Amino acid sequence: MATNNDFCFSCTTCGLQSCHKRDKDLPKQCLTTTKIKEKEIEKVLDLYRNDPLISKLAKTAAVLEGTYYGKLTRVEEIIQFAKRIGAKKVGIATCVGLIEESKIFARLLEHHGFQTYGVLCKVGGRDKTEIGIPEELKVLKGCHESLCNPIMQAKLLAKEKTDLNVVVGLCVGHDSLFMKYSKAR
Ligand code: SF4
Repeated sequence: MATNNDFCFSCTTCGLQSCHKRDKDLPKQCLTTTKIKEKEIEKVLDLYRNDPLISKLAKTAAVLEGTYYGKLTRVEEIIQFAKRIGAKKVGIATCVGLIEESKIFARLLEHHGFQTYGVLCKVGGRDKTEIGIPEELKVLKGCHESLCNPIMQAKLLAKEKTDLNVVVGLCVGHDSLFMKYSKAR
């Protein structure tokens, strides 16, 4: 575990955030000047400029931010984003606790002309004990309690060839696993 002796300067200990507007000097230990080589940032910029998929996503996201920042809800932003990148089919990786909201979200997307495909976190229905979680660490002890299955959510959405996947409320850690395996085109 990290202690105070391991103090390490990073953007969360920086008091300036001068990288944002470049209106004041960067701090001495700034990551922009101490951690990034010119070549490295140029390579990344090249992806944003020239890689067909990355360029489309990055530019669309920036245009949306400039056009709608603070004006649209996140759902409205997703609809705008999906339209602008030419998505036809939107995958929804949803938490069981937000399935009603996901249903509404799917209907809204369909209203805007998208196909949708939703996959619940509990898909597969396998008990948590099957991956070594002891009975006493279930929410409801002594009952069947399906494990969250973000990898299977990602695989099913990949089979459906979704163009864009949206995460609706997956738990901490399950969201990370979903993102690791998500393969939207
Ligand atoms: S990049 Fe530099 S200026 Fe920006 S938050 Fe990080 S340390 Fe601060």
